[in-house]
Amino acid sequence: MTAAASRPLGATAAATPPDSGALPVIELIDVHKTYRVGTELILALRGVTLTIRENEYVAIMGASGSGKSTMLNILGCLDVPSRGTYRLGGADVSRVSQSKLASVRSRKIGFVFQSFELLPRTTALKNVELPLVYSHARKRRQRAIDALTRVGLLERALHHPNQLSGGQKQRVAIARALAQEPDIILADEPTGNLDSKTGEEIMSIFDQLHREGQTIIIVTHEDDIARHCRRTIRLKDGVVEEDRSKGL
Ligand code: ADP
Ligand code: MG
Repeated sequence: MTAAASRPLGATAAATPPDSGALPVIELIDVHKTYRVGTELILALRGVTLTIRENEYVAIMGASGSGKSTMLNILGCLDVPSRGTYRLGGADVSRVSQSKLASVRSRKIGFVFQSFELLPRTTALKNVELPLVYSHARKRRQRAIDALTRVGLLERALHHPNQLSGGQKQRVAIARALAQEPDIILADEPTGNLDSKTGEEIMSIFDQLHREGQTIIIVTHEDDIARHCRRTIRLKDGVVEEDRSKGL
């Protein structure tokens, strides 16, 4: 990419790109996460402060063990910080109960995983439809059809996962995330199980969703994947080592 502009970042500055006027979706303020294993304390996140706004397209990078999954679990309301604040859509979700967290998660977060996580004996359509527990049944079917259409897979709606290629399975998984109309799509190594050509096809779907206004966060260790994103946040030993937004 030619116009990639690096934004200098002071050691203690909040890691946010220039104010675009878009509303913050995610605000992490001095977030720490400590795991206890036996008598040992593992400091997986050690003071992460950053803001992600509507329609941002973000790659989270970093070596193995740098805290990416820990951060994604917190962003996705699968876990809460040990210390610090996480505001999602303006609401503090740092200290809420597990059941409240599950409800926030199902309304606001769409997950896409490396291993697709589709139900094997269930059609593509049903895979997309089943998680829409809060929607009325007819609307549910229509939303699933709309989502499969958006990823170009309506013609495979009645196929089972074992009748689909890896790329098609991931498209079903993206449709499942989209059907919830989530505030954020969180993808953990979404192209990790795909060959590079298929990976590019999946990234072009994320590119399209970004153009349509979706907020997208992708964990990846591949530069070719991160290159699609508009901003790269690099973790090292549980802190933000680098936060770089592309120039317009
Ligand atoms: P990454 O996804 O970047 O590889 P992780 O967030 O998985 O990094 O891990 C960050 C650190 O926290 C590592 O040292 C890891 O061993 C540790 N860790 C992650 N999850 C747990 C857990 N559930 N219990 C104990 N330690 C953990
Ligand atoms: Mg990980």
